[in-house]
Amino acid sequence: MFFHKKNLMYEVKVSQADPRFARILLEQFGGANGELAAAMQYFVQGLGSRDTKMRDMLMDIAAEEISHLEMVGTCIDMLINGHPNEEFYQTEIFDFVGGNGPNLMNSYGIKWTADYLKVSGETASDLHNNIAAEGRAKITYERLMTQTDDPSVLDMLKFLMTREVTHIQNFQEALYSLEEQMPGVMSGSPEFVKKYFNMSTGATDARGPWNEDGKFEYVEDPVPMGNNPAEEMKAKNE
Ligand code: MN
Ligand code: MN
Repeated sequence: MFFHKKNLMYEVKVSQADPRFARILLEQFGGANGELAAAMQYFVQGLGSRDTKMRDMLMDIAAEEISHLEMVGTCIDMLINGHPNEEFYQTEIFDFVGGNGPNLMNSYGIKWTADYLKVSGETASDLHNNIAAEGRAKITYERLMTQTDDPSVLDMLKFLMTREVTHIQNFQEALYSLEEQMPGVMSGSPEFVKKYFNMSTGATDARGPWNEDGKFEYVEDPVPMGNNPAEEMKAKNE
């Protein structure tokens, strides 16, 4: 059951109309890493979760993301309404696609799609995805903050960016609380699981914790382990 409270989660005000900024802010409304995508991803993950604690967290954060969506949509509406330059306003996608208000599309006018969502039905895999999704939302807010001077809009963007930081930390803690952070149930085959193949070779070959001796066996010059199907086909035809 959902209730709606008419007051916004945090203050949304704009100093003046700015259709250009409204257009790029659409990324957080109907874009791939926007608030609707976040809300729906956690909501659908939560509905399918068999872990009641994870389900609770996913529903809490999903409901907050809808509150962010409301703030972003409200801000877009304020930014496009009352713009004095009618000619410029009509060149913006809102006028002929969006019906004069925010619409579920990205800054290029491409409609929102459920294909943006990552729902695996597996807690560890979903949490990894959610951490990455929150990270993308955070950097999108940071980039948006370079594109406006409006102090009220900047204050709202700072709040929304901050909440994504919190969500990254919530999802990280949830992931670390799992007994097994590796998605799925099977272990990798022992003969391959600890090998690192140096498949891109050249002067800038690099070493780090991802291919460190001890943790991994560094295979400097990998050779194919498989057969040659064309050779076998040729032999069969002779
Ligand atoms: Mn959000
Ligand atoms: Mn978030």
